[in-house]
Amino acid sequence: MSERDARPRDTTRVRAEVDLAALRANVTSLRARVSGAALMAVVKADAYGHGAVPCALAAQQAGAEWLGTATPEEALALREAGLRGRMLCWLWAPGGPWREAIAADVDVSVSALWALREVTAAARAERAPARVHLKADTGLGRNGCQPADWPELVAAALAAERDGLVRVVGLWSHFACADEPEHPANDAQLARFREMVAYAEGQGVRPEVRHIANSPALLTRPDAHFDLVRAGIATYGVSPGPELGSAADLGLRPVMRLSADLVLVKEVPGGHGVSYGHHYVTPGGTTLGLVPAGYADGIPRHASDAGPVLVGGKLRTVAGRVAMDQFVVDLGGDRPEPGTEAVLFGAGDRGEPTAEDWAQACGTIVYEIVTRIGVRVPRVYVNEHATG
Ligand SMILES: *Cc1c(COP(=O)(O)O)cnc(C)c1O
Repeated sequence: MSERDARPRDTTRVRAEVDLAALRANVTSLRARVSGAALMAVVKADAYGHGAVPCALAAQQAGAEWLGTATPEEALALREAGLRGRMLCWLWAPGGPWREAIAADVDVSVSALWALREVTAAARAERAPARVHLKADTGLGRNGCQPADWPELVAAALAAERDGLVRVVGLWSHFACADEPEHPANDAQLARFREMVAYAEGQGVRPEVRHIANSPALLTRPDAHFDLVRAGIATYGVSPGPELGSAADLGLRPVMRLSADLVLVKEVPGGHGVSYGHHYVTPGGTTLGLVPAGYADGIPRHASDAGPVLVGGKLRTVAGRVAMDQFVVDLGGDRPEPGTEAVLFGAGDRGEPTAEDWAQACGTIVYEIVTRIGVRVPRVYVNEHATG
């Protein structure tokens, strides 16, 4: 996947350009919004499909103090690639690589007693304390410790701290509705978070960082910044949701540009069915362009008859079903040369659609559009090195 990869890369067919200067600019702009807090660049899921290692490096170059991943394996892979600095991972399964995380200086999250038992056993074996962030369920109802179970977890963590097995360096939580700034759950979660933090601190926990904000909360709730904010989608220059405005409104630059080259342009008569199931039938004589990217590349099948594509300066729409490896656009009689670029999404400032446009066309969230771009699509890093 890296540019150093020796295998020939299929960039003639389809490619996702990843503009690391845009990523650095986003990190700089996000850091300016959180003057009092540190910034964690969330690089889980291969940096939301953008490539974890180059994006993590670029984020650090722009001043991100922390890196965050979901799984410990993702964090350990970053360490293996040579990434330094503070790193937190939070999605643990029983039997997970706790010892490896302690040895690699990766912070871990604990939501329940089973995880505390496993991490203290690992710390004993490793003869080194684990850095633990206790996670509170302040209302998301997903991971995290319920308020009723919090006293027991806090007490057990403090006991482990007294035994020299852990250091409780973080108290944290996650929002359910931050992309809807007016949603009452946001205030309720924030109040609950303050209570749960105050309880733990009252018992003797001395955290380095308290954190609850994801990208939408970073952008809309300064009162939720605390000591650290965790920015995922905004790092990649994508708006967290329509209620927050476009990326441009938020001062963010989209990092990924997805394009493919037409492999066939041909004339067809009216009434001609297009692609599986013939869900599109040409309204009259026209030309069709074949785009060599499909759902195996992460183009949602829900984009059938809906996804926008810029070809030869004109916006076209996916005609008929997206297949595994390819889809068709009706070019309305135009005859661009094979090899002409079809832009699926990009920054949006040159007439091309944005990832947000694809999310809307497919009835999903923009997170899914960028994250699902498949391993068969080469990532091409541009502006890898900061200049000036
Ligand atoms: C993915 C994730 C984030 C980042 O969310 P964005 O909305 O992409 O900024 C932050 N915290 C946790 C726990 C996450 O899982």
